Parts: sequence; structure tokens; C-alpha cells
Amino acid sequence: MIHTTLPFFYPLLKLRFPSISADHVIVTYGQDIYSRQNLPKALVAHELTHTLQQKNKLYGLWWWVKYLISADFRMSQELEAYRAQYQWVCNNEKHNKHLWLDNMAYDLARFYELEITPTEAKNLIK
Ligand SMILES: [Zn+2]
Repeated sequence: MIHTTLPFFYPLLKLRFPSISADHVIVTYGQDIYSRQNLPKALVAHELTHTLQQKNKLYGLWWWVKYLISADFRMSQELEAYRAQYQWVCNNEKHNKHLWLDNMAYDLARFYELEITPTEAKNLIK
């Protein structure tokens, strides 16, 4: 289910990832997706990957603790999600795939406190 509100732990996310904003962030918790903006299908593919990773709200809580603490875990989960998103784009919006890849690489390098460059992110996603 997609909610237009924010999850209860959003303040924690904002503390950990200062560059996110409430109007643009997309958060998955268990099987629920929280986003104030309409989600393009490519982004749904990304978030659906996180619902599979989290399974339910109980495991999802543990997933979020690990996600906040461990950059390695965060990188592994986001790479899986960005690769699923890129695969969706390659299958459905092939003409836009370079633009999508540039934007995804920029986001991965910018918002997750992973200390990688957009170029490194691009090579990891594709
Ligand atoms: Zn993600």
C-alpha cells in the first residue's frame, strides 16, 4: 500500500541523512511505501525491492536499524533496489535509460552517506 504521509521514524532518517527532504523522500516500511509525490513506475520497482528485503514490519524494523547503522548493509540493499529500478527502465523506457542511470547514480552518491562518487555509483548500478 502507498501512503502520502511519512513513517513515524522519519525524524530519525532526517537526522542520519540531512540532505533528504520530507516532500521528496520515499520510504518503505514492511509492505508499505510512504511518499508525498506520485511515484513513477521505475521508482515503484525500486521500492518493491525494499518490501521484498523487509518482508514485514517486524523484520522491517530490524532492517531499518541495520540500514541506519551500517553503510555496507545500506549499500547492499540500495544496490539491489537501484539495479531492479534500472532493469525496469531498460525493459520499459529504454530510450530514457541513460538519463535514468545518471539520475539514479547522482541520488545514490548524494543521499545515502555512502562516500561514493556518481561515476562509481553508475558503474555499480549498471
Ligand atoms: Zn532504496
